[in-house]
Amino acid sequence: MQVYVEQLSTPILGEYDIIVAGGGVAGSCAAVAAKRAGIKRVLLLEKGIILGGLATQGLISLYEPICDGQGHKIVYGMGSELMKLCMRYGPDVLPMQWRDDPDAASPDCGKYKTFFSPAMFAMALDEFVLNAGVDILFDTQIVAPVMDEGQCTGLIIENKTGRGVYRARAVIDATGDADIFYRAGAPCVTGKNYMTYLAYRTDMEAVSSALAEKNILLARKWTLLGAGPRGNGHPEGIPFIEGTTAEEVTQYVLAGRKMMLDSMRNEDRFSRDLTVLPTMAQFRTTRHIIGAYSIQESDLCCRLPDSIAPIADFSAAGEWYEIPYRALYNPSYPNLWTAGRTVSADGWAWVVVRVIPGCACSGQAAGLAAALCLKHGFTADTLPYAILLDALVAEGAKVHPEESSY
Ligand SMILES: Cc1cc2nc3c(=O)[nH]c(=O)nc-3n(C[C@H](O)[C@H](O)[C@H](O)COP(=O)(O)OP(=O)(O)OC[C@H]3O[C@@H](n4cnc5c(N)ncnc54)[C@H](O)[C@@H]3O)c2cc1C
Repeated sequence: MQVYVEQLSTPILGEYDIIVAGGGVAGSCAAVAAKRAGIKRVLLLEKGIILGGLATQGLISLYEPICDGQGHKIVYGMGSELMKLCMRYGPDVLPMQWRDDPDAASPDCGKYKTFFSPAMFAMALDEFVLNAGVDILFDTQIVAPVMDEGQCTGLIIENKTGRGVYRARAVIDATGDADIFYRAGAPCVTGKNYMTYLAYRTDMEAVSSALAEKNILLARKWTLLGAGPRGNGHPEGIPFIEGTTAEEVTQYVLAGRKMMLDSMRNEDRFSRDLTVLPTMAQFRTTRHIIGAYSIQESDLCCRLPDSIAPIADFSAAGEWYEIPYRALYNPSYPNLWTAGRTVSADGWAWVVVRVIPGCACSGQAAGLAAALCLKHGFTADTLPYAILLDALVAEGAKVHPEESSY
């Protein structure tokens, strides 16, 4: 490959204690958790202009269950806090029995999960992050980490102002693609994505149902074309895509939009509409880090010694995986953590822990861990789990399902 040698002299634009890369659910939670832990200068960098990532820009507006499907709430901490936040200003379809946030409900009342409005959730996330005192920069693309003898000492960014560096003492990679780890040279695993395209459709039937039920959420339908999480429905002839190059992202979104248009082309154009298109490529699994531990499928319903949260398997009642702290860092990168859909996990375990409540929980743990390391002089891999556990519990988290339930 031919190379063009650039001469750059990049200004240092600011100094922070913790920088969070990416303002999805995981990044928003990580930034707030760090701030609540008493860290003074926390910066959240986001290339889009709204918080929430796939859950808002990507229209993935189904908050998967925070119960075990058998009537027990099992996800607490920010996994539970964000569930309430997604419903704070917008409509929802949460079953009545879960409305007052009990620890248990009757097993047949429906799961503790809901659809939500991505737009209202995005605005609630603005408040969540700003009220905590986090600095946000939107429209800011992180270009590369600044590495110094294995430490990540800052991030190079490009935005309207130009190119610059923000210095940091600790960095949390919540890009959803493990971009920071990858560009720092860390080993990562790429996933193969089935073809899926999801948008909101409205039609006369949906509008009638919203009027009948007096719930505006029903005025649009969550319309998912292509494959579900197990690949059923993947269109023939379309290759699986990793989603880690610009060409693949472009190919994926164009193919998805074409699939949607083809499904609507012959309908009466006055009888239906799409209320909004996703503004983020809907990849489930692009890349995850190789952590100190990778969650295995065989860890199903196992209590792990350094669990930060249990996450319910949305597809099977009574089944769950725990996210161990070791899945959030690679021991070769002492001041770098990941959170969200990039935690170290394999097979179906990866699918389960990357749901929105899982991203909130791993975000909270990564933000707390980074804060504790800065306060007490530890690195990602030397932080004693007992210290993290105490901090998580003090913030309302529970790291295992209740003893009584299992
Ligand atoms: C088709 C599909 C269906 C799904 N269904 C469900 C479901 O029903 N329920 C559920 O709970 N979960 C579901 N999920 C999973 C869930 O939506 C995601 O895993 C989760 O929202 C990921 O959150 P995150 O914060 O880890 O990452 P993301 O949401 O990807 O956020 C990453 C953020 O980082 C930003 N970013 C990335 N790179 C850079 C950069 N270089 N510089 C600056 N900013 C950057 C992005 O703009 C984005 O805002 C689904 C996912 C898909 C794709």
